[in-house]
Amino acid sequence: MDPKNYKNIFVFIEQREGKIQNVSLELLNKARELAAQLNEQVVALLLGHEVEDQAQELISYGADVVLCADAPELAQYNTEPYTQAITQMVHTKNPSIILIGASTIGRDLGPRLSARIQTGLTADCTALEIAEDGHLLMTRPAFGGNLMATIVCKEHRPQMSTVRPGVMVKGALDSNRQGIIEKMAINFDHAKFRVKIVETVKESKNMIDITDAKILVSGGRGVGTAEGFRKLHDLAKTLHAEVSSSRAVVDLGIISHDRQVGQTGKTVRPDLYFALGISGAIQHLAGMEESDFIVAINKDKDAPIFQTADLGIVGDVNQIIPLLNEKLQKEMK
Ligand SMILES: Cc1cc2nc3c(=O)[nH]c(=O)nc-3n(C[C@H](O)[C@H](O)[C@H](O)COP(=O)(O)OP(=O)(O)OC[C@H]3O[C@@H](n4cnc5c(N)ncnc54)[C@H](O)[C@@H]3O)c2cc1C
Repeated sequence: MDPKNYKNIFVFIEQREGKIQNVSLELLNKARELAAQLNEQVVALLLGHEVEDQAQELISYGADVVLCADAPELAQYNTEPYTQAITQMVHTKNPSIILIGASTIGRDLGPRLSARIQTGLTADCTALEIAEDGHLLMTRPAFGGNLMATIVCKEHRPQMSTVRPGVMVKGALDSNRQGIIEKMAINFDHAKFRVKIVETVKESKNMIDITDAKILVSGGRGVGTAEGFRKLHDLAKTLHAEVSSSRAVVDLGIISHDRQVGQTGKTVRPDLYFALGISGAIQHLAGMEESDFIVAINKDKDAPIFQTADLGIVGDVNQIIPLLNEKLQKEMK
């Protein structure tokens, strides 16, 4: 394997019902930065059925080339057809790097693809950089988040990495950007299609995903009980915020896992993050430390969360939350 024979950064574009997911736009922006250092191009992989009109948006967000595979087999995400399509794209174009969002789709696709094209995959990266020798440095938490490990794939190409939604920052849309749209016909081996989508059932959701929220009111074990969380919900309502939590509260069964912030939960980057009765364990910080402004309330003045917070209040959350809510309600009238 000679790395010189592999060029350009592939970004898998995740679309659901024709809507491009934010994580793909975040990765396009990161890929732009890496491609500039390598003097290579950013290639967006757009797979689906009748999705070609999305290509210009991808160029506006940083793609130089949109490699588009349009086929009825790709209308909805399904592991085998998507793996076959991207494998053919990889074998035709020999990219140096492939970036995939660590969403449920990306977590399914990444390992299958890496096995098919016989390369390594570093999952759930939190940082990507180019080393002086041109290799991709892929950093991710290891040993329960107590250590950050930087992984290099020297013996194989392409170098593959998945990155969780919200870890990288989406670039600004530039509608003047120019790029190339290239169609690619895929030769499917239908005999290998073993899974058929019979029906898609949507979970009814009336809450905003915590990764999209501008303000998060997050509670930890210090909030304690379901009653404590009701007060926290009241505060969130006043602030037009969403409620999230530490893992301790998910483990207690007070809140569902899709509201958990942290290494094994979601990565969030709101404008304002309230950490209420949260100690600030490294696994929690990994999911929220990039928030613009962090307010922490904790009865322990030495709690680690205060080292990350922009504003810290030492006191009992169960007393402070109702007072804060009352004051904010008056202010916001
Ligand atoms: C592999 C692995 C992955 C993990 N992933 C995650 C993850 O994704 N997200 C996550 O959050 N954790 C994760 N954890 C768990 C993490 O290590 C911590 O155990 C967890 O974050 C602690 O949650 P907490 O801060 O709510 O609880 P605690 O650590 O128990 O802290 C409670 C805090 O509340 C304060 N407090 C208590 N009562 C009050 C009161 N009345 N008023 C004010 N303050 C009060 C205490 O002083 C304390 O600081 C993971 C752990 C491992 C090993």
